[in-house]
Amino acid sequence: MQFKDIIGQRVLINQITQIIDSGRIPHSQLLLGSNGYGTLALALAYAQYLNCEHRQHYAVSDPEHELIADSCGECPSCKKMQALVHADLHLVFPTAVPKGSSAEKMCAKMYMEEFITHAAKTHLYTTYEDWIAVQCSDKKQGIIRETDAANIVQTLSMTTYESKYKVLVIWMPEKMNPAAANEVLKTLEEPTKNTVILMVSDNSDNMLSTILSRAQLIRVPRIADEDLIKAVASKIDIAGQEQALASAAEGDYIRAIKYMDDSNVERKYAGMFVEWMRKLFKLNMVPLAAWVDSIHSMSRDEQTQFLRYAQDAIRACFLKTAAGIVLAHRIQFGDAKFDDRFPYMISPNNIENINAAFDEAIMAINRNGYDKLVFMRLSFVLSSLLKKA
Ligand SMILES: [Zn+2]
Repeated sequence: MQFKDIIGQRVLINQITQIIDSGRIPHSQLLLGSNGYGTLALALAYAQYLNCEHRQHYAVSDPEHELIADSCGECPSCKKMQALVHADLHLVFPTAVPKGSSAEKMCAKMYMEEFITHAAKTHLYTTYEDWIAVQCSDKKQGIIRETDAANIVQTLSMTTYESKYKVLVIWMPEKMNPAAANEVLKTLEEPTKNTVILMVSDNSDNMLSTILSRAQLIRVPRIADEDLIKAVASKIDIAGQEQALASAAEGDYIRAIKYMDDSNVERKYAGMFVEWMRKLFKLNMVPLAAWVDSIHSMSRDEQTQFLRYAQDAIRACFLKTAAGIVLAHRIQFGDAKFDDRFPYMISPNNIENINAAFDEAIMAINRNGYDKLVFMRLSFVLSSLLKKA
């Protein structure tokens, strides 16, 4: 990871490279901030710069927005750092114990390959929850354990292999169990020469105060809106949604991507909902059957999500017509004529039965009922209920 690939954070990066260049490198540091601010990416870019054989320095006119230095990205050290396979780079992160595995020997080392793949896929903008979901499908807690601590102690006792600095990156140190934390504490107290420990945390509340007090704190700020919008726009079309995106994401890139995914799904569901309601209201069998066929290609999870979306939308329509409460984001389907008229098809006369029909359909889908039949049946029921408003 080079600093140039990090989203925004130019001021902080320029401070970091200046300190590294000065040679006054703290033994242990804690990068504190939301994962979506790029904390893990910063730590790995830090490690790469530290051991780069040809650090680059640039003459810039605007150091608030431009980098004054970066690793070269080309030397053997950079190449290995980029692939996270450098012999002097050590990574520790939480792991969960999958069903049937033993907790005793479980440690980050066992999942290094999976972690490297996940890191490459996410460009190091990832959360604890996302990583644990990849590492262990059993919804267990991820922990940094005694085995990890023993590995850390052993690693730090060895000399460097190929570079000047040995770098230990501990991601989510707040997930260390107390035994591991006590073991790690000793290594923080007795720094070994040319070893740099970078801890990356998004919540210092759960961390032992003794660990906090032994590390130099680097507060990673939120990403500036301008940088965040530019980064998201380079991946997804966000035309017209820039301001909404910036206020929802609060400087967090992971949250920004999630917001765009959610809003794209909502728009897709809204379009499907309008089409469905029109077809079932007219009860033209051929187009309705074609629509149900298109639903069949979705996964069960998506079918349930769509049904929940439709149920929520109908409840919001009822709130508007019965109580005058307007949840705008729930009753705007992207079709002005439909937005105007459809809410009046929901009234106290049919809302309860419509709600019950959705509950029944969602239950049937979750119980592996035949999806085409479930949607067809629901369409008939809704068609007759909507006419009773
Ligand atoms: Zn290099």
